[in-house]
Amino acid sequence: MKLLHRWGGKDREPLTGEWLEDREPATGRLLARIARGGAAEIEAAVASAAAAQREWAEVPPPRRAELLERVADRLEAESEDLAALESRDTGKPLTLARTVDVPRAVENFRFFASALRQDQTPCHAMGDALNYSLRRPLGVVGLITPWNLPLYLLSWKLAPALAMGNAAVAKPSELTPCTAGRLAKIVDRACAALELPVGIFALVHGLGAEAGEALVEHPGVRGISFTGGTVTGARVAAAAAPHCKKLSLELGGKNPTLVFADADLDAAVDGAARAAFLNQGQICLCGSRILVQDSIYPAFEERLVAAARVLTPGDPAAPGTRMGSLISPAHRDEVEGYLRLAREEGGRILCGGRRPELPQPWRNGAFLEATLIEGLAPDSRCAREEIFGPVATLHPFRDESEALALANGVDYGLSASLWTRDLERAHRFAAALECGMVWVNTWLKRDLRVPFGGSKRSGVGREGGHWSLDFYSEIRNVCIQL
Ligand code: NDP
Repeated sequence: MKLLHRWGGKDREPLTGEWLEDREPATGRLLARIARGGAAEIEAAVASAAAAQREWAEVPPPRRAELLERVADRLEAESEDLAALESRDTGKPLTLARTVDVPRAVENFRFFASALRQDQTPCHAMGDALNYSLRRPLGVVGLITPWNLPLYLLSWKLAPALAMGNAAVAKPSELTPCTAGRLAKIVDRACAALELPVGIFALVHGLGAEAGEALVEHPGVRGISFTGGTVTGARVAAAAAPHCKKLSLELGGKNPTLVFADADLDAAVDGAARAAFLNQGQICLCGSRILVQDSIYPAFEERLVAAARVLTPGDPAAPGTRMGSLISPAHRDEVEGYLRLAREEGGRILCGGRRPELPQPWRNGAFLEATLIEGLAPDSRCAREEIFGPVATLHPFRDESEALALANGVDYGLSASLWTRDLERAHRFAAALECGMVWVNTWLKRDLRVPFGGSKRSGVGREGGHWSLDFYSEIRNVCIQL
């Protein structure tokens, strides 16, 4: 398979003639050759998107909503194919791609179509004058996405960006570019079928340091929505700053799962295991620090270890598989580096920590067992740094104040989950935890209307619901003397 850039409604060969390889992480097999783009492709894609955007901005909101609904319908019609492609490209279980990644992408387009139809802007009457607010598109926006939830996160950005009358140029992770290419074709075909301007979504493949950086630095790109690691995010922010671009940064996390002695233990064990290991622990919201009240620590640990042990890695396409492959052998090496470091830091591996023995064709895949570690000091590197793999650390706490200090004692501040039957405590913690999202007695329950984002080194800004509409538009106030 060859993956080409796309702008102006057409596939485009790499201008330099250079290609990258995209390999299936579960087998190591070559999945696709990807066009390697850089500043020249970004220049052409932005110019083409800008031309389409001028027309698109004039399209009335109900027609724009129609386009988003049509894209949702097409994604849904192709969902089985898309799920299979996403699973092969990322190594994640097919069941997960089928039940989460692709349905959520469909839902993102439907949700923002509906949000656009119902959007309201304020009017402020002054007696002798009237103010009203107009939403205006930014123009061309740049969307940069990581490899863990490729279609899901791209659709989460693209749907509101188009809804607000922008054109978008996307640079997906070069590790997982496949579904972005399919989405670009779906958008172009939907535009053509509805007689709307073709070319409002352009795609440039390539490396972050080449295509990504060129997109961030391009003066014609008025906003950047970036999801990825914190170090890369800081680099993106620095490159965008001289141009005064609007910026949304969704970055890494080292999220605590707090389990109190009064919690429903069955639910808490299940929730903590899901939070630690879903998508092989490669979700920014994963609960990778499990803080447990000391009186229930031994019982909780025993049950959590049992829950982790049943997550045996295997063929991502098999219906029963809940643990697929990590994104690449290189990433698995990094995660294993943390396991060595954990031992040096005094940690004890309770389960996992090894590469599973699998038959061909999975022997060359980047699999790793679900791993739990205890005995690490809260200020050790393994307990503070984002590992982004199927690895969680366990830490006991005595009381609320120690739990809070542990939970807040890292540089990240994305999310937390709290397991307790004490409602007052839940409210106290919800207010005191330093993060953007708190779940109580659940994890990863998502309502698309709510704000999404992090504090501290987990990001800048919020997306979701009207926060996305705000990010992808400029609000202009108009004051009329009466
Ligand atoms: P990276 O930060 O490495 O990359 C993210 C994207 O940025 C990729 O498309 C990458 O391209 C691109 N990129 C890299 N360097 C630059 C640059 N200098 N300028 C512009 N773009 C660049 O993250 P990963 O792909 O490794 O994803 C994992 C990270 O994403 C984790 O830290 C995770 O926590 C975070 N994440 C955060 C979420 C959130 O909502 N808060 C959600 C999901 C993930 P390339 O791949 O080619 O290098």
